[in-house]
Amino acid sequence: MSATVDLLLREDLRDFGGYRSARSEVLDGSVWLNANESAWANGSDSEGRLRRYPQPQPEALCARLAALYGVAPPQLLVGRGSDEGIDLLLRAFCMPGRGAVVIAPPVFGMYAVCARLHGTEVIEVPLRDAAAGLRADLPAMGDAALAGSASLLFLCSPGNPSGELLELGAIAQLAQRLRGRCLVIVDEAYIEYADAPSAIALLADRDNIAVLRTLSKAHALAAARVGCVLGAPSLITALRRVQAPYPLPQPVVEAALGALSPRALALTCSRMAAVRDARARLADGLRALRQVRRVHASLGNFLLVRFFDATAAFAALLAAGVVVRDMRAMPQLGDALRITVGSAEDCRRVLAALETSRAEAP
Ligand SMILES: *Cc1c(COP(=O)(O)O)cnc(C)c1O
Repeated sequence: MSATVDLLLREDLRDFGGYRSARSEVLDGSVWLNANESAWANGSDSEGRLRRYPQPQPEALCARLAALYGVAPPQLLVGRGSDEGIDLLLRAFCMPGRGAVVIAPPVFGMYAVCARLHGTEVIEVPLRDAAAGLRADLPAMGDAALAGSASLLFLCSPGNPSGELLELGAIAQLAQRLRGRCLVIVDEAYIEYADAPSAIALLADRDNIAVLRTLSKAHALAAARVGCVLGAPSLITALRRVQAPYPLPQPVVEAALGALSPRALALTCSRMAAVRDARARLADGLRALRQVRRVHASLGNFLLVRFFDATAAFAALLAAGVVVRDMRAMPQLGDALRITVGSAEDCRRVLAALETSRAEAP
């Protein structure tokens, strides 16, 4: 077993096997009477696709995801979005009501939400507002993890909402420093838009890194709820014991397999180039507006935009039917909105709404 996983796994769960579902037994038979399933398909289910419980970790889907991410199947856990991955990590590595995790706000909210629900302390090391944009201070996060005996440290690359891409060398260095002490989780929900190498490349040398990937963003499958944790096989085994018995409904498995066919993947890949293009054009358009104070450089499919009057900008967009993410309640972002890079027409609507509002301003 990997040393770090072994050291950090909740002590009370070390000999916990999790729920043994009928599907966890590896048995061979032709008459399946071990799961109390119906002998008949539902009247609406003409092909009988839904009659039986699905595989806990659907083999074909896991194989395809492993190939996509360049890992071996034992290094991958698939579940209900990266959100479930975050929750499983908390539950496997933090005792309820105890322990600590490190985050760098402003950042994706689920790390802190899962930690709070679990009664785990959230140690915040705020992003620094630098010339290049909002930047995570990895050495300071490492200090905080060691000082607070945190078992998980969450990085988001590209950062939501910062747009920052973290250097793999810096992540590797942080993991090296925290080896045996803390797991470094790299959430790469937006990495496809960055056209940059993934932290998955670091898994071979470090047993205390895990990477989160999702089909929700670049693969356009947010409604299906499919995400992965990638890491050491021992980490994956530990998370499986914590996971609910049948995380992925069969229709979701089929939708995900379809989305990972060579044809669908080629289309997804070409769309990434289009988003990068649209992102640059939207950023230029916004920078040319007088209401805009700053557009942060972003490697995701969104732009973090600071306005002289964010309240007025939000209202102007809304009046034109354009809904963007209001960031004003987040630390350091009192003047900011986050705008997803949509279609060319969506981007045109954003710019038109802001241009009109400026023309109407006194
Ligand atoms: C959108 C997003 C996710 C996606 O979560 P899913 O549960 O896979 O849909 C994960 N992390 C970040 C930072 C996100 O912005």
